[in-house]
Amino acid sequence: MTDKRIFNFNAGPAALPLQVLEEIQSSFLNFNQSGMSITEVSHRSSYFDDVINDAVDRAKRLLKLDDRFHILFLQGGASLQFPMIPMNFLSGDDTADYINTGTWSTKAIKEAEILKKNYTVVASSEDKDFSYIPKDIQFSKNARYVHMTSNNTIKGTQFHEFPDTNGVPILCDMSSDIFSRPLDMGKFGLIYAGAQKNLGPSGTCMVIIRQDMLDMANEDLPSMLKYSTYASKNSMYNTPPCFGVYTIDLVLKWIEEVMGGIEKMEEYNIKKADLLYDCIDSSSFYRTTAEKYSRSLMNVTFRLPTEDLEKKFVADATEKGLGGLKGHRSVGGCRASIYNAATMESINALIQFMESFEKENK
Ligand SMILES: *Cc1c(COP(=O)(O)O)cnc(C)c1O
Repeated sequence: MTDKRIFNFNAGPAALPLQVLEEIQSSFLNFNQSGMSITEVSHRSSYFDDVINDAVDRAKRLLKLDDRFHILFLQGGASLQFPMIPMNFLSGDDTADYINTGTWSTKAIKEAEILKKNYTVVASSEDKDFSYIPKDIQFSKNARYVHMTSNNTIKGTQFHEFPDTNGVPILCDMSSDIFSRPLDMGKFGLIYAGAQKNLGPSGTCMVIIRQDMLDMANEDLPSMLKYSTYASKNSMYNTPPCFGVYTIDLVLKWIEEVMGGIEKMEEYNIKKADLLYDCIDSSSFYRTTAEKYSRSLMNVTFRLPTEDLEKKFVADATEKGLGGLKGHRSVGGCRASIYNAATMESINALIQFMESFEKENK
């Protein structure tokens, strides 16, 4: 097919930094002079201890986490967190607030429903096909947590500010924008992210959890479904997703040492997204699907004048080495996912392609 790497706009699994892939490749047969691949070393060895501890330290440094926060690595992707959260934090008459901003929030709510927990959907943008971020949300007084999705991968919307919940901890699905910007951690009790958007290979999920959430969690759950099991064993109660953790460590190292930290990462992400949105806004051929104030810096969703043109756009782009531009199967249209690892070079290539496609097809 191709002997060249493409400009990869996949939504997830998504592009990883080339330097990270090269480092994996060069150390794959002999990790750290161990004489073994990282996929062959024991998770009880000092080789792997160094990897997981480095990943935890880097995550804490990047997000400026204090000692109350634990970094955990779980399996089951982001989706296993949807039931784990109500299982761990709701019992009896306890209730939680949910904000519904799209497919992933809807799935999280569905799990609370299946588990027969009490919850209130305090805000939803479903009335306009999830094209905006709700404002002025009234939260319940007695909620144990507020669940929300920071970036809506499919609809291309993103919270640019987190709501004031009157001190109720926010538990947030950050699968598609974790480590893309600095966070005010005072608001969060738990953050989780499936790795395949901004962190590494699919299957692994990073969980950042505050001690007081662990203290209030239910204990009468199977071991593998309790956060405390992971927190008390440095995520090694059973065999952790070793290759995932290793890749995440390299990606975090890349953010720290190559990109210059999380503030710089955010600047870069804003620059990339601005260029792309400017290209769309200055054209009468392309249009975005998200309300302007709600637009995502990570997933740029847009439409062309007709579905036929959208099909042609995706096909021509693929031909030219620009991949992954088809919108999610549930919404159609086009989507460019431009996570941390998307380079300015790939943004420029996309813009150039979009401009010439418009000229040829208008
Ligand atoms: C991709 C995605 C998920 C699902 O992740 P899995 O690892 O496939 O379970 C959940 N939430 C958001 C915001 C996502 O982007």
